[in-house]
Amino acid sequence: MNWLALAEEKKEMIISELQALIQIPSVLQEDQATDEMPFGPKPLEALNHLLSEGEKEGFITKNVDNMAGHIEMGEGEDILGILCHVDVVPEGKGWTYPPYEGVVADGKLYGRGSIDDKGPTIAAWMAMKLVKESGIKLSKKVRLIIGTDEESGFRCVTRYFEKEQMPQLGFAPDADFPIINAEKGIASLIFTQTGSTETETIQFFQAGKRTNMVPDEAFAFVFGGLITIKEKFDAFASEHGITGEVAPQGPTVKVLVHGKSAHAMEPDAGVNAAIHLAKFLQTINLTPHSKAFVDFLVGGFGAESRGRALALNFTDEVSGDTTLNPGVIHYAPEQGSCTQVSMRYSVTYPFEEKLAACRKALQNTGITLDLGTNSKPHYVDKEDVLIKTLQKVYERQTGEEATLLSIGGGTYARVLEKGVAFGMLFPGRDDYAHQVDEYVDIEDLIKATAIYADAIVELAGTTSGEGE
Ligand SMILES: [Zn+2]
Repeated sequence: MNWLALAEEKKEMIISELQALIQIPSVLQEDQATDEMPFGPKPLEALNHLLSEGEKEGFITKNVDNMAGHIEMGEGEDILGILCHVDVVPEGKGWTYPPYEGVVADGKLYGRGSIDDKGPTIAAWMAMKLVKESGIKLSKKVRLIIGTDEESGFRCVTRYFEKEQMPQLGFAPDADFPIINAEKGIASLIFTQTGSTETETIQFFQAGKRTNMVPDEAFAFVFGGLITIKEKFDAFASEHGITGEVAPQGPTVKVLVHGKSAHAMEPDAGVNAAIHLAKFLQTINLTPHSKAFVDFLVGGFGAESRGRALALNFTDEVSGDTTLNPGVIHYAPEQGSCTQVSMRYSVTYPFEEKLAACRKALQNTGITLDLGTNSKPHYVDKEDVLIKTLQKVYERQTGEEATLLSIGGGTYARVLEKGVAFGMLFPGRDDYAHQVDEYVDIEDLIKATAIYADAIVELAGTTSGEGE
């Protein structure tokens, strides 16, 4: 089968189907949510639109509580799941083209959801149509599973899998090509220090709003002479190549430091303002409780982002280094301090052992460690038939090597028991997901349709997994 040629013939249809889906502004509408419409009217409209397309074309469809649904083809005991979503994040301001039209310009199709995840959804859906038209017999059921709440908590697929069978294998076209087979675990670590009854040098310290971002600003109110602190800060700032401000704040001095934001999956891509501020505060005379707080920040996170000082460091071949991002930090004398850290841990991380080692390292520091949320790593072995098959398909359709990727973030694929993220952003393409002027390359859309059609036949066709 020349899937690429067949997909090319469907070009106009692929474009118009994607435009129709983009024209439904399916942003979560919490204020209009009802039992009937759990995420508001528009996400449901997008789901029903796609399900009715499936029905029109003679596929079996199912709506699960107006939260998710599927379009199904093929017969057999086992299920191949293709997991996608039709909800989108809000459009934001400053678009060159209207965000909900699907304007085509310079070989690109613009619109909210074009790459995340309506374009990939349409590519997978068109691939199912191509396979149906080819008349190839399938030995598995193939389900395009459509969620409507991926962007705000996965409530859609949580409900879906309470009611429907988990596919034996699957892929999610909601990230990057070639194949993401390893996703680190994501744990929230909370380091606390109890309050002080003394008059402390540091009266207040704050940085960051979300643990998944490197804080780009931090400030503190401290007792001390304005002139001295300012002089010291200017010297510190030029030595460390940072900027900030020192100003009077009531009876205290306010010290503010600018850093650079970055995603927590690679803290080294940013500059943590809180750590620099703590380093600076170490240069002035501090009361013991205040000092214990900044010493912990600098000692724990000052030298590097891999957690060596806290005995949390670990690395493995499949997923690389464990990383730590102290993203939300707060100190006030009476309340003590709280440092919330997003830890992205390697696939084979010995979790309990490492946490115990960290607690041991914290003895006599006045700081204790608690575990907040913990989302386990997701991994499919590189020798698994799912991986081998997708690699073969990708290489055949693109002529490029299908390298396996490991990431520090989480993809939709982690919902599946055995599933990987498979497209559809090609290597080297800019990622405009969640951004203004989001677009998809039309050529990529066609190529992805061909890849998905080939993958469906290889994974669910009558000869899949045998011989070859
Ligand atoms: Zn997505």
